[in-house]
Amino acid sequence: MTSLLLDIYERLYRRFGPCRWWPADTPFEVCVGAILTQNTNWANVEKALANLKQEDLLTPEGIRALPQDRLSELIRPAGFLNVKTKRLKCFVDWLWERYAGRLDLMSAEPLASTRDELLAVHGIGRETCDSILLYAGNYPTFVVDAYTGRLFTRLGIIGEGSGYEEIRTLFMSRLESDPALYNEYHALIVMQCKEYCRKRPFCSACVLQEICNFPGN
Ligand code: SF4
Repeated sequence: MTSLLLDIYERLYRRFGPCRWWPADTPFEVCVGAILTQNTNWANVEKALANLKQEDLLTPEGIRALPQDRLSELIRPAGFLNVKTKRLKCFVDWLWERYAGRLDLMSAEPLASTRDELLAVHGIGRETCDSILLYAGNYPTFVVDAYTGRLFTRLGIIGEGSGYEEIRTLFMSRLESDPALYNEYHALIVMQCKEYCRKRPFCSACVLQEICNFPGN
């Protein structure tokens, strides 16, 4: 299994890499982007991030001090205003109370306990949590999303309907514990699923075609 996962990685890397994720100027911007991207596309998130940057508020201090209604106005392009405003505020409150607003202090703590703590913060689901830990905290944790499920089900590596933790454990138990590898692998999966392994897959041009189990590829 390890060699198959690495083979897939190599094929995708030759096609798309390096992807240089996550697109952000600071680790805190990664966190805000990971929360805002829930249920919306990245172009809308970029507009919301640009609004915060323009006002010089894309910092833990900035968001902490911002009244909720003003924060909602600034993140309007990302949608779900009440939900996302509350989630951002809860995340920043947690970061402040626990780590004095410093992601570098968070990142010095062990992965398992930090992940448990972050998952307990209002509105932080598993994908958002692992995105923050990997891309902002440089922790060796694998991010699983719907693309990961689709691609690896079609490849015949996981079963239909496999759960988040099951898929994450598969990658983390078979691959070296390496944030750089996990960072690039997740980005490559997203690229592959946007370009080839779409809902209606474009198998004839796919670099994984010869090792894929998907019927009719
Ligand atoms: S061959 Fe088709 S189904 Fe298989 S990974 Fe490629 S695009 Fe997806």
